[in-house]
Amino acid sequence: MRKSKGFHRPMAAKGLSSFFQKDKTFRPKRKYEDGTMRYELHKQSKASLHAGIDLKECVKLPKDQDFMDWVAVHVVDFYNRINLIVGGIQDVCTEDSCPTMSGGKRYEYHWCDKGKYKKPTSVPAIEYISLLMDWIENLINNEDIFPVDKDIPFPKAFLPTAKKILTRLFRVFVHIYMHHFDRLQSLRVEAHVNQCYKHFYYFVTEHNLVEAKELEPLREMSQKLCW
Ligand SMILES: [Zn+2]
Repeated sequence: MRKSKGFHRPMAAKGLSSFFQKDKTFRPKRKYEDGTMRYELHKQSKASLHAGIDLKECVKLPKDQDFMDWVAVHVVDFYNRINLIVGGIQDVCTEDSCPTMSGGKRYEYHWCDKGKYKKPTSVPAIEYISLLMDWIENLINNEDIFPVDKDIPFPKAFLPTAKKILTRLFRVFVHIYMHHFDRLQSLRVEAHVNQCYKHFYYFVTEHNLVEAKELEPLREMSQKLCW
């Protein structure tokens, strides 16, 4: 497996102009390599974005496209984009500043996986995010769950896994918006992050991939931004 370095690489030395240029700051995933059918779909979903099409429209499943494919390319894409955003806050999100994975005073997320953390465990936000990104990377590079070849059908576990990934990725938005918004502003990437958030929000609500109660912490913001 190829390990991504995007999240762990210090961002401080990088110029802002290159901050969100994927090619420079993030190693592309093994997923959706050039020439595969799924890559073509991936390009299509990106192309419609760049054409300035209404985000709310462009998350809808295109005619003649497979729903699972559509979800898979978006999961990978959101993972990559959110990973990049995290790169911008990782130096200010420390064990001291954020001893828990909080969303304001009302929300706190505990990490749980099938490895070291078998029971939900309170960890610093940056550790939660790091565990989360590693966990997702393992899943999306696991071809038993995310098959690369178009001829191989998605397994039953795919959709529940995709929902869990998206639900947990949403929590990264919650933490960043509630605790590190000033950093986004100082990096002048607020508009970019809002755009990513809107795309994510429209996608998961259009296809019912994240439960309403999970979206609750950012409900007011979503109403302003997305409705
Ligand atoms: Zn933090």
